[in-house]
Amino acid sequence: MLFVADAMLGKLSRWLRLVGLRVIYAPEELAVEDDDVIKLAARRKAVLLTRDEELAEKAKNYCRTFLVRSNDLRSQFREVAAAFKIKIPKRETQALCPKCGSRLERVPKKSVKTLVWPRVYARHNAFWRCGNARCAQIYWKGTHVREIRRVLKEIKTAGDEKRVTRARTA
Ligand SMILES: [Zn+2]
Repeated sequence: MLFVADAMLGKLSRWLRLVGLRVIYAPEELAVEDDDVIKLAARRKAVLLTRDEELAEKAKNYCRTFLVRSNDLRSQFREVAAAFKIKIPKRETQALCPKCGSRLERVPKKSVKTLVWPRVYARHNAFWRCGNARCAQIYWKGTHVREIRRVLKEIKTAGDEKRVTRARTA
């Protein structure tokens, strides 16, 4: 499944990528105007994620659309996770680059020695690099992954969450 997220959902895009979902953040493809965002989602056969009711209404005729109700990142994530039955990744290596959405590759510790802060290098042993050469961002098992895991755990334990979300979006 592929998502296109509109300009209001940049942080949510990062989080979805972190749990391994393919997300195109519309402004990265220079799609900011409503029509361009809809065209992008339709062309890529993607599910359009938006917080804009007007946009969602218009988009429905052209692509699969999901209207995100909440203003809070954590709740937004829960809404999408519940609606699309997002599975909790077993390993953080399933994460895609939160910055650009490309695959991450595990890289030997030594190879990042000059690329990360000495403190980070000393504290961590597992490193990943974004496979997109233009991005090449380095990641390690830091606070970001821990945060994502915590959110995923919350989704898993909140049994009624799906029903609540559905009632709200109906
Ligand atoms: Zn990247």
